[in-house]
Formats: sequence, C-alpha cells, structure tokens
Amino acid sequence: MNVVSRNKRALVVASAFVFVAVSSFAQSLSTKWEELTAPDFVKAIQQSQGTCLLPIGILEKHGAHLPLGNDLINVRYVSEHAAAEEYAVVFPAYYFGQIFEARQQPGTVAYSSHMQLELMQETADEMARNGCKKIIIVNGHGGNNSLLPYFAQSQLASAHDYIVYVFERPSHDDAAGRPPMKSSKYAVDFHAGEGETSRTMVSRPDLVHLDRAKSESGEDQARQHLPDSLYTGIWWYARFPNHYAGDGSVATNELGEFDTKAEISDLVTAIRAVKADAEGLRLQKEFNQKATHPLDTKQ
Ligand SMILES: [Zn+2]
Repeated sequence: MNVVSRNKRALVVASAFVFVAVSSFAQSLSTKWEELTAPDFVKAIQQSQGTCLLPIGILEKHGAHLPLGNDLINVRYVSEHAAAEEYAVVFPAYYFGQIFEARQQPGTVAYSSHMQLELMQETADEMARNGCKKIIIVNGHGGNNSLLPYFAQSQLASAHDYIVYVFERPSHDDAAGRPPMKSSKYAVDFHAGEGETSRTMVSRPDLVHLDRAKSESGEDQARQHLPDSLYTGIWWYARFPNHYAGDGSVATNELGEFDTKAEISDLVTAIRAVKADAEGLRLQKEFNQKATHPLDTKQ
C-alpha cells in the first residue's frame, strides 16, 4: 500500500470512527432520572451498574446575594458533570434536609426531623426498587453533615438489598495551584462566603448579586463562650445571626472554576470506587443475616 492509499484508508477509518462516535453521542442516555423514558431508564440503570446519585441541597438564605436554592444548584451542577464523565443516574431535585438553624430567615423550608429521615428512607427504598442498588448521597449543604452519616448508619437497623454511601465535598483549601483567597476572614468562610459564592459564579452566574454581598455582615459575632468540648444547637445563631459566614463580595470566577473542577473530579473518583466496591453490599448482607440471630454469631 502506498502512502496515498494508506492515508486514504486511514481517513475512511477515521471518518467511520467519527460517525460511530457522533451517532453514539446522539443516542447517549441522559443522566437525569426525570428526562429518561421508561425504556431508556432500564438501559440507564444497566449502564450505571445500578449506581445512582442523590444530590441533596436545601432552601435557605445565602447572605443577601445568593439564591435560596444555592446548595441544590451547586450540588446538582457538580453531580450532573460528574455523572456525564462516569455514568450514573441522577435523582431529581431534592431539598428536604436539615436546616432548623435558619428558621428565623425568610424562604427557609425546615421539615421536621422524622420527615427528613422518613422521606430520605422512602426515597432510597424507591430508588432501590427501581434498580439503584448503590446510592451515593451527594451532600451540598453543611447543615446535613450530621444527618447524612446518621442516615447511612441507620441503614443497618434493618435489611436492605441496596447500600447507601455519603459523598462530602473534600476541602481543597491548601491544594496546589488554587487561586489565593482574597477574603480577610478566611477562617469563617463557611456560608455564602468567598468560596461558595465563587462556585455559584460558575454554576449560575446570573443568580449571583455581588453588589449586595456587603449589605449585611458575615462576621463571626462570637456571642457565646464555651469550651470546644461542648455542643449546643444555638451555636450557629450565636456566631452568624444573619445566616451569612464570610465575605462573598470578593468571590472570583477563577476560584469557583478551581474548586468546582476539583469537586467534580473527587465525585468521579467516588462513583468509580462505588462501582468497584463489591464488599459493601456483601458484608451488609452477611451482617444482616447474623443480626437476625445474634446468639449464633461465633464468639
Ligand atoms: Zn450553601
């Protein structure tokens, strides 16, 4: 084969490849549960190997400059991008978590504790009944940090044919190459501050009102003085009565891009690890069998 015909052949192979790639792209399944048809949902569960994401946000004030649904918007942005990279089915908008500490602010929807747990359990049960045997709860809201591990732990109270994992956004504060924070109150960049506002500038820039970010104080007001060994529910209000912790006015697109990319990459790694985890479900089943007759468990 001379050079010309070899090149010609390479071109044909390449265009065939492009055609296959384009046609498979055209037929590719949505990652979003609510966008799939019923027949496509069956294929989606197969393609995801029964791995589904349940991104959880909340409805709560985010300073004077970010939307009430900020956490849900950001966590869904990350979940959808991660699922597009490592296929998983993403459950529709879910904002039924823990947010008692913002009940004094407008727009907060705070369901009772039993409702939070029952709704999450029934949602997980229904997801599993539809083939989601590995459910990754993707947490987008700091107020859920105790609720979600408790929920995952409580799955051992009775037998399930599925397993729940909780994904918490790892900190990249000291990561190499991260744009330096501008906020002088770095130590309290907790809520609607520089980091979070920067991420929303990536996910929904049209909903960020930077010019309003200084209209209230996000400073730690330190109104309660207790040793670190004590926890009490009013701690957040004691420190941040405006439900704002940090300084969102100095947020940047660069910081948002860095943190959002890092979080997507962390979630992709987590989805791959969950798909590869054969031990979790097997051990859970073994545990549940033993738990029904503990006196027979070898001592
Ligand atoms: Zn938030």
